[in-house]
Amino acid sequence: MTGIDDLPVRDELRGKSPYGAPQLDVPVQLNTNENPYPLPEPLVARIAERVAEAARGLNRYPDRDAVELRTELARYLTRTGGHPVAAENVWAANGSNEVLQQLLQTFGGPGRTAIGFEPSYSMHALIARGTGTGWISGPRNEDFTIDVEAARKAIAEHRPDVVFITSPNNPTGTAVDADTVLALYEAAQAARPSMVVVDEAYVEFSHRDSLLPLIEGRPNLVVSRTMSKAFGAAGLRLGYLAAHPAVVDAVQLVRLPYHLSAVTQATALAALEHTDTLLGYVEQLKAERDRLVAELRAIGYEVTESDANFVQFGKFPDTHAAWRAILDRGVLVRDNGVPGWLRVTAGTPEENDAFLDAVRELMKEQE
Ligand code: PMP
Repeated sequence: MTGIDDLPVRDELRGKSPYGAPQLDVPVQLNTNENPYPLPEPLVARIAERVAEAARGLNRYPDRDAVELRTELARYLTRTGGHPVAAENVWAANGSNEVLQQLLQTFGGPGRTAIGFEPSYSMHALIARGTGTGWISGPRNEDFTIDVEAARKAIAEHRPDVVFITSPNNPTGTAVDADTVLALYEAAQAARPSMVVVDEAYVEFSHRDSLLPLIEGRPNLVVSRTMSKAFGAAGLRLGYLAAHPAVVDAVQLVRLPYHLSAVTQATALAALEHTDTLLGYVEQLKAERDRLVAELRAIGYEVTESDANFVQFGKFPDTHAAWRAILDRGVLVRDNGVPGWLRVTAGTPEENDAFLDAVRELMKEQE
């Protein structure tokens, strides 16, 4: 049987595995940081309307520059991000993963490197590999905050072309303050002109404000966002960035022509019309996230402070066995490979209750 290794694949891909959170058919799925609430019916109807309109023009390529969508995303960021931005500051793609890929295609690539502070979002390293960018794993403190001094040293030593800062961080839930971002931005610029990418996929769930205002006067700083989490639209595949207009011009050097389908643009525009309702769900999820933190601690687990729609909890002597024991009780959580820790996404109150029952039983068994 022919396998991958029998094909002339690139050396750096040999023996590697694709990104793969298990998609198992389990009653309670709290493993991929999705929003548990389906889109509200009036929004579903509005999507159908806007997509029907788009369908009438599907014989033509879509707006290559997605101007209407970028204008509405800019309006959303201006309203909620604490900093005015315009369409020329915003770029959109199929999920923030594609935004990050375009950034690495533009600013990374063969002979260049990117650094992230791990544990963090594993796709940063995988997208680096896929774009031929060298990957450097930077350090964190015991409590999963960024160790600013160690991070500065790593940047000075490796002189990366791209620096990833994830706030709130996945899988730990840890938010990063503006001073830390500024310190790392300065360290990065001192080492060589480099791009600092602040991945704010979960920022709507944070206790803190967005780091968006930091793009002002810093053309090498990019904030990336997504509609997969707060907008409850992971299936839509819509991510975006905000930065200096020159960055938006630069990523267009690598984007495929017409990368964002007319159907995607129409659907995202419909969702943005319902922003207030969707942000209402975010408030419920934040309350549920805080309840998970409090109840997990009451049961006796260690919990990492969370600013996201998920919670990292532990510590387990055998992480995989704990993951399996929770799964055996019908609840799928995520083992991100952080020794001793698991991650649970905040679901509906009923889903969270099912999870809490499962981990309560697990704790009793371990006593
Ligand atoms: N950044 C972070 C930190 C994430 O956790 C995720 C999704 N899990 C993404 C980016 C990518 O999300 P999407 O491509 O759905 O926008």
